[in-house]
Amino acid sequence: MSAPLVAPRDDVGLMDGYHSAQVDVDVRLNTNESPEPPPAAFLDAVAAAVATVDWHRYPDRAATALRTRIGALHGVGPEQVFVANGSNEVLQTLSLAYAGPGRSVAVFEPTYALHAHIARITGSSVAEGERTVDFALDLDEVRRVLTEAEPALTYLCSPNNPTGMVETPETVVEVLGLAPGLLVVDEAYGQFAPWSALELVDEATPLVVTRTFSKTWSMAAARLGYLVGPSWVVAQLEKVVLPYHLDSLKQVAGLAALDHVGAMEERVSRLVEERGRVEAALRDLPCEVWPSAANFILFRPATVAGADVWRQLVERSVLVRDCSSWPRLDGCLRVTIGTRDEDDRFLASLREVLT
Ligand SMILES: *Cc1c(COP(=O)(O)O)cnc(C)c1O
Repeated sequence: MSAPLVAPRDDVGLMDGYHSAQVDVDVRLNTNESPEPPPAAFLDAVAAAVATVDWHRYPDRAATALRTRIGALHGVGPEQVFVANGSNEVLQTLSLAYAGPGRSVAVFEPTYALHAHIARITGSSVAEGERTVDFALDLDEVRRVLTEAEPALTYLCSPNNPTGMVETPETVVEVLGLAPGLLVVDEAYGQFAPWSALELVDEATPLVVTRTFSKTWSMAAARLGYLVGPSWVVAQLEKVVLPYHLDSLKQVAGLAALDHVGAMEERVSRLVEERGRVEAALRDLPCEVWPSAANFILFRPATVAGADVWRQLVERSVLVRDCSSWPRLDGCLRVTIGTRDEDDRFLASLREVLT
């Protein structure tokens, strides 16, 4: 029982939490994880590294070794890298340092729901811009929202979740010129895309790019993400994050992962090829399909309501993401690219439901 006088913040009391069904099924294609576990050599390296952890000591608070290795991957020093427990914690830390009460955060919908959610949790107001009907960014709308709201943080997501669309370099540069505050490009799926906004990062530019080990790196269980940006942004983030936030286990796991860049790149190319196969198969079914530069595909069944399709897929032990009731995504579902077998199972089940 909760005590009657114990009330949460008014805004928190009215909020919905994060919802993504965790249903026990055979084929899980709902959270954009990698379908493959990490390489065996990585698991051995982590096991060996765990044995060397000083359990009675706090971790290296600055995670210097890990930040140095991540920086080396992207051609910057450790002072330009901030690491946290998943890229969601990176986003939260950005909001704590740069947004919050009296400040606003701009997002362009439909996009990753956590951008607005995390902004609200930190007490920021959210300025929502609209994308065009085909989910592209509309620069006139961007200009209008940024002029009216003067946001401290402006979010782009490229490739965008849940649409799969990549922003062009020209678009990102244009938004960078319009944004009055910091531009955050969320590249959780950046490895699947033809270019990265990382190439625009430098000390003089108010731009940060966030990445995660959860998707391409087959490490969703580890909760590890980072951003690359100017050192003066990283210095502010270090002030607001909890001391020793990144445990020693995670730091050694991240270091071990960075010894397997080649294996990760192979996974990415396998998934890109498989994405082409799934997309073509979806186009043969009565579905509207959006082209994707990520490891998932957004589609809208034409003959059966999206929510019914979702339920009938679960009955066949296949779980996809139900976006059908989300604003602007009426009737849409999002499927993660899995192994060939998982995708075949999904496609066969979908074919049954739709035809
Ligand atoms: C999955 C996802 C994240 C979160 O990643 P974590 O590192 O697991 O917290 C961030 N942004 C987008 C767009 C995502 O899809």
